[in-house]
Amino acid sequence: MLQVKNIVFSYGKTKVLNDLSFQVEAGKCLAVIGESGSGKSTLLKVLRGEYDLSGGRVLWKDEDILGPKFNLVIGYDFIKYVAQEFELEPYISVEENIGQFLSNFYPEEKQERVTELLGVVELSEFAKTKVKLLSGGQKQRVALARAIAKQPEIILLDEPFSHIDNFKKQSLRRNLFSYMKDKNIACIVATHDKEDVLGYADKMMVLDENKIVALDSPKQLYEEPKLPLVASFFGEFNIIDDEIVYANRLKVVDISDLKVIVRRSYFKGDCYLIEGTVGTNAIFFENASKIKTGAQVFLGQKK
Ligand code: ADP
Ligand code: MG
Repeated sequence: MLQVKNIVFSYGKTKVLNDLSFQVEAGKCLAVIGESGSGKSTLLKVLRGEYDLSGGRVLWKDEDILGPKFNLVIGYDFIKYVAQEFELEPYISVEENIGQFLSNFYPEEKQERVTELLGVVELSEFAKTKVKLLSGGQKQRVALARAIAKQPEIILLDEPFSHIDNFKKQSLRRNLFSYMKDKNIACIVATHDKEDVLGYADKMMVLDENKIVALDSPKQLYEEPKLPLVASFFGEFNIIDDEIVYANRLKVVDISDLKVIVRRSYFKGDCYLIEGTVGTNAIFFENASKIKTGAQVFLGQKK
């Protein structure tokens, strides 16, 4: 189990992580979310031992993860980290990049492993292609395959699908997360995409102003977000009588106390997001069809 105990970290005088504590068990996935600049990347770097802490401890199976003050070489073999700006060897092929840190002692096993990994990131047909010829998204997939190649015990992913287009994202995400579950790898993923969290993460942690402001299962945080920041991660919402109500929890009813003038309808695929006003306040709800601008409707909450 990864144990993070009251860690404090600053860049110079600027405190970025203030007293964070949490745990991640082997095979579990923790999603870290928060606005840009909230410290997600810094946290991942601290967890791999890239920086020295000014307080607290990080432990994996009772071994301290230490920073450069204590280690000649940054990082640990059992932790793999894929940075937001991933680094690859541009002049060698995809399969050579993936196999770079695998032992050459058992060439057949090595080849099998590389073939399996190419499958996970769906790059089999690019095995022999030089990395410099790949698109940003393809390079990101090579970086992911390289990170899981030696079956680390912990993997730290910083916005791992940010360069990957929607066509590929869904299946890649499924492949990668189920691979890590199968191999019992603990995963911490910094993300701004709710699709990475819902359905894949066991726990979700929200960072704001150097602190953890929420830490629970994605389902619990989705259903009872408590903070607007948490709700905003999942979708459009309103605050009605001091309560957070998602747009998809409101529906048009025959009559209610909530009288809305419709301002705009936005096509969302499976429904329309409708923007309206209640007096001078904006309100958002979902509806199966478009509603005419200027129309007056009443809203109620779905049961
Ligand atoms: P996130 O990944 O959530 O966007 P970061 O961890 O990158 O956030 O950044 C957190 C804060 O630390 C930001 O205010 C950022 O400007 C600052 N920061 C990040 N890296 C450095 C650095 N190497 N030196 C100084 N400040 C940094
Ligand atoms: Mg970042």
